[in-house]
Amino acid sequence: MPTFKADLAVIGAGAVGASCAYHAAKRGLKVALFDARMPTAGTSGACSGLIAISTKKPGLAADLAAETKRLYPKVVAELDSDVEYRPAPLLMLIEDADILTELEIYQDTVRDHGWRLDHLDRAAVLALEPNLSPDFEGALLCPDEATVNPYRMTLGMVAGAVARGATTHWGIKPRAIDVVGDSIAAIDTPAGRIEAEQYVFAAGVWSPDLGAMVGLDLPVIPRRGDVVVTARAAPIVSHYLMAASSMVVKNRPELAETTDDPLMRRGGGFGTHVNALGQCLLGTTRAFAGHDRTTDPDGVRAIVASALKRLPGLARVPILRTFVGLRPHVPDGKPIIGRSGRVSNLLVATGHDGDGISLSVVTGDVIADMATGRRPRIDVSALSPDRFPALG
Ligand SMILES: Cc1cc2nc3c(=O)[nH]c(=O)nc-3n(C[C@H](O)[C@H](O)[C@H](O)COP(=O)(O)OP(=O)(O)OC[C@H]3O[C@@H](n4cnc5c(N)ncnc54)[C@H](O)[C@@H]3O)c2cc1C
Repeated sequence: MPTFKADLAVIGAGAVGASCAYHAAKRGLKVALFDARMPTAGTSGACSGLIAISTKKPGLAADLAAETKRLYPKVVAELDSDVEYRPAPLLMLIEDADILTELEIYQDTVRDHGWRLDHLDRAAVLALEPNLSPDFEGALLCPDEATVNPYRMTLGMVAGAVARGATTHWGIKPRAIDVVGDSIAAIDTPAGRIEAEQYVFAAGVWSPDLGAMVGLDLPVIPRRGDVVVTARAAPIVSHYLMAASSMVVKNRPELAETTDDPLMRRGGGFGTHVNALGQCLLGTTRAFAGHDRTTDPDGVRAIVASALKRLPGLARVPILRTFVGLRPHVPDGKPIIGRSGRVSNLLVATGHDGDGISLSVVTGDVIADMATGRRPRIDVSALSPDRFPALG
């Protein structure tokens, strides 16, 4: 059986693990990246790639998003891959004037960080998006948002890590972790032992299993999102379109009970954009339903009804497929990023919920700084894995 030796062993090769591997390799560490299956087998292969600041509340979430927006284009330019990083002006449809006050915090975030935001009336929105049904009040336009292809970004960062000396190992899952004193001595897998100076756990919704092997509670819960993908068609929208109420409902779940929107009633929210292939992605549900990734027909019906209500012309476009992704949700609403004080050579990078494609870049940068003893560009002490009690 081989022994895989490295300065840093990263366990989990979704967008977050791939970014940790890429940034650490860039800083000169000998990195080994492992995945139980392969990169994009998890949520990073079943999601969208919006990189937005206008959907964040002020505070650490907004600061991370702002840092992300600065870093992303630089990292994309360093990668030797086309990751389909594109401008994606975001239109947040205001369908109910009552939610305007609640949108103010998001507007503050955008303006505080120096990005543009315009308030458009109905006529201005219809001039931009003539296929919209006119049943709305206006919209917030955030012209500086972007999108990336999540598969390509994840694979691009893996390739970037390999180009900087990292090794990759797929189909390898830890079966036991040897903790000596307060640090990991080795990880035992059916394919051999992993021996590293430091380790990163970046296993998305599967992180609790790894945490339990070293006595850490990493409370990441899958929050599923169904998405409907249409066949290629003439672009029905030119912006990344989102119902503003779908953000408000995250803070005020009681709204879901009073709305007639079939998707919001299920806790989800309408959003759509056209991808580089000309397919329309329609989303999405939000539900805690375990690790099941089979399609929920009622969820799909709600997505389609909610989309047709806003874009009746979609009735002429066939549905190609549906998919389900599991957002790595943490009950306190914050990702888990940082070094564990209980297992001193372990760094954790998980729990990014609906933001892991965008936040992957800043997370990898921060983790690589921690692994090399540098001060991270942003203070993430509030995201420490030690905010949860150790397992008994
Ligand atoms: C419908 C939907 C839409 C979304 N839209 C966006 C968006 O627009 N913008 C955005 O930024 N984010 C979005 N997200 C969120 C984003 O997809 C996730 O936050 C992100 O993909 C999480 O990445 P990750 O690397 O932490 O996890 P994953 O991508 O799940 O990667 C974890 C990896 O760990 C591996 N693994 C698991 N267990 C083990 C083990 N024991 N040993 C070794 N390997 C293991 C898995 O095989 C997997 O490859 C969306 C999510 C969904 C569901």
